[in-house]
Amino acid sequence: MTAIEIVNLTHTFNVGSPFERTALKDINFAIDKGEFVGIIGHTGSGKSTLIQMFNSLIIPTKGKVLINGVDINGEGVNKKEIRQNVGLVFQYPEHQLFELTIFKDVAYGPINLGLSEQEVEDRVVKSLRAVGLAEDLWQAAPFQLSGGQKRRVAIAGVIAMNPGILVLDEPTAGLDPKGRDELFQQLKSMHKELGITVVLISHSMEDVAKYVEKLIVLHKGSLKYMGTPREIFKNVEELESIGLAPPQIKYIVKALRENGFMIDEDILTVDEAANRIMGFLKAREV
Ligand code: ADP
Repeated sequence: MTAIEIVNLTHTFNVGSPFERTALKDINFAIDKGEFVGIIGHTGSGKSTLIQMFNSLIIPTKGKVLINGVDINGEGVNKKEIRQNVGLVFQYPEHQLFELTIFKDVAYGPINLGLSEQEVEDRVVKSLRAVGLAEDLWQAAPFQLSGGQKRRVAIAGVIAMNPGILVLDEPTAGLDPKGRDELFQQLKSMHKELGITVVLISHSMEDVAKYVEKLIVLHKGSLKYMGTPREIFKNVEELESIGLAPPQIKYIVKALRENGFMIDEDILTVDEAANRIMGFLKAREV
């Protein structure tokens, strides 16, 4: 089943004015239900514009956005329902925490849906657990939390709406490498546990190489590649030419191969490289 289908999508801002700007040009792709997908591309390539079209915050100039097979900009479509089903987490979402306690903040959305007290509580508990926030922090005030913890709370607030699709704009921006790793691992396990489709924008090639199943590469508003990170990161020179640096390990593998260590060219992560190098050394000893 397809979760998101993008058909001949073009978007131009400020049509007919001197500030006219085409942000997306004739894009086509599909994301299946339950996939974990990354979107990468240089600044200005159209990533933010694209994800805001997934729940009709921006309406395409041309083309269609289908969510679970429904054209979300078609006549008679309930936008509220669409926005509930496609949860969007903006950059630095923790800036929007405003309630006195973490629990209340996450409860805000479900309360507005008119759910019963018990249902609200169930959703808050499920969401805070899904983002891995320790229970002793649930009654704390947002300002008592670290940056990474606050971000988890903000993500929990979106999950509490029970979306089938979760879309995040650079969820790890501004976090240190440890915080980035922890959040990615949490998103991965949440994705598995809740079975939701996750689409995220990232600037970290290392992280997407490690965590996502499929990558969409945008370049100047066009779809440049779509495939597994292993397929995409083979195009080292092409990626560099569009301002993206493949994971560092690709360069180390290349240098090793040039020096007679014939390990696989499609190695993607440091762990994989370590395994293959050890294997290569052992084979040479025999
Ligand atoms: P990215 O997220 O990849 O950095 P954006 O989607 O933000 O890219 O921007 C794509 C292009 O659209 C850029 O040239 C940007 O200047 C332009 N753009 C984005 N938002 C607007 C807007 N509200 N009005 C006019 N132009 C915009």
